[in-house]
Amino acid sequence: MSERSDHFDLVVIGGGPGGYCAALYGASAGLNVALVEKDALGGTCLNRGCIPAKAFLETAAVKRHVDHAADFGIETGAPEGSAASVAFARTQERKQGIVRQLVGGIGAMCKNRNVEVFNGTGSLSAGRTVQVAMGDGGSATITGDFVMLASGSVPRLIPGFERGGPIMTSDEVLDLDTLPARVAVIGGGAIGCEFASTFADLGSEVTILEGLPKILPGLDNDVANVVVKSFRKKNIAIKTGVMVNGHTPDGNGATTVAFGDGESVVVDAVVVSVGRRPFADELGLDGTGVQVDERGFVVVDEFCQTGESGVYAVGDLINTPQLAHVAYAEAILVVKHLLGENPMPVMYDRVPWAIYCHPEVAWAGPDEQQAKDAGHDVVVAKHPFKFNSRAMILGETEGLVKVIAKKRADGTAGQVLGVHMVGPWVTEQLSGGYLAVNWEATVDEIAEFIQPHPSLSELFGETVLSLTGRNFNG
Ligand code: FAD
Repeated sequence: MSERSDHFDLVVIGGGPGGYCAALYGASAGLNVALVEKDALGGTCLNRGCIPAKAFLETAAVKRHVDHAADFGIETGAPEGSAASVAFARTQERKQGIVRQLVGGIGAMCKNRNVEVFNGTGSLSAGRTVQVAMGDGGSATITGDFVMLASGSVPRLIPGFERGGPIMTSDEVLDLDTLPARVAVIGGGAIGCEFASTFADLGSEVTILEGLPKILPGLDNDVANVVVKSFRKKNIAIKTGVMVNGHTPDGNGATTVAFGDGESVVVDAVVVSVGRRPFADELGLDGTGVQVDERGFVVVDEFCQTGESGVYAVGDLINTPQLAHVAYAEAILVVKHLLGENPMPVMYDRVPWAIYCHPEVAWAGPDEQQAKDAGHDVVVAKHPFKFNSRAMILGETEGLVKVIAKKRADGTAGQVLGVHMVGPWVTEQLSGGYLAVNWEATVDEIAEFIQPHPSLSELFGETVLSLTGRNFNG
């Protein structure tokens, strides 16, 4: 068995978005970096999260297009009124191909930048020393001038719904190669709604079971209402304000999920989607000043510094929005900070958010209620995609753009506070709104931007224009 010992400028534990971004960005800044990953590079995002979930959603989008091909004058040869069939094993294979390429790409980039990848489990002890239990049975002891913890998160579970058979977390759902006919999704948050949308579009019968009074509770009300209406059109049954009480397998692969006050639903798959918990379980941390709070998050300051000198933590491991691009931003912040470049902390209340269900949702900045609760007097404009030419061409006219601006003393709209969108490809359209919010731009400044025509992004331009008090679309 091999025993190694080395010193690096930066040692990163965890090869997900936080970890690999810090490693590659740090290496591009001239740092000598070690990256410790116990599983596959890319972490949750590439292997069990963002990328596979979006690959499934794209298959669902293709199914929708094919089902409506006749509207565009394309004859598929399928008998009238019948839907296209789904070969889900092929969907799985395609998704795996995408994941393989991306994971391989990160490995290749690490090699090109001389990032030394240790395939093993890293644990931190005093003196910024990382012990690595290597996958091949060997071990290594490495030290760093700086150490970054980026061990991410794992799905939360609920008692009575242990993984196995029809009971799945996102990890198992993303490995499916057959399409379940009946699905219960426990939890109507972003990830739950993406799975609900995918399966409903692919033809499964879907029920969402949510304990809170509404699904997607973090969303602006106008935006959430569009999603709920659209989900109902897809025949997704949405049960809110209900707790699940347990389930009874029938022995043939299906199970009856009991919820609420004596209600139940029989399904072939249960997707437990009740959030993720930080994963510090194997980090050791003995004899270090790194603190973990009562919910399991590593405690950091605004520069992602832990209580141990020279040790940082980023991503899902700390109590900030559990988003891959937030992990990237934190990784860049850490590298700049350790290089003494005096970076700006991440402004968590202004990061972009995106949910890739159909219809898509994207936003930056506070929604209308949050802006009011923060004490702002606001002026709000919202415009629907219904009259947008590109949306009509796409045949996707559900949705709206809503802009929340600060009200000036004279009653006119000033600084753009929040931009909230729901509808076709809004996850790709948010960048203009994100820029406006983070630049603290006024509606007059943003109204000067020219949007291409015909485009979906014209709706953002028109919504902002209307806030100047003049417009051309009513
Ligand atoms: P992770 O990606 O969890 O990576 C942590 C890595 O550390 C893992 O590879 C793990 O194996 C490794 N590790 C853990 N402990 C050790 C150890 N002791 N030693 C060595 N290695 C260790 N976010 C978005 O922004 N957009 C989306 O559309 C989106 N969709 C999602 C869909 C799903 C289904 C899920 C589950 C998540 C989604 N997310 C999305 C969230 C996103 O995946 C996470 O926010 C992101 O992966 C967090 O990155 P991270 O680097 O902090 O941790």
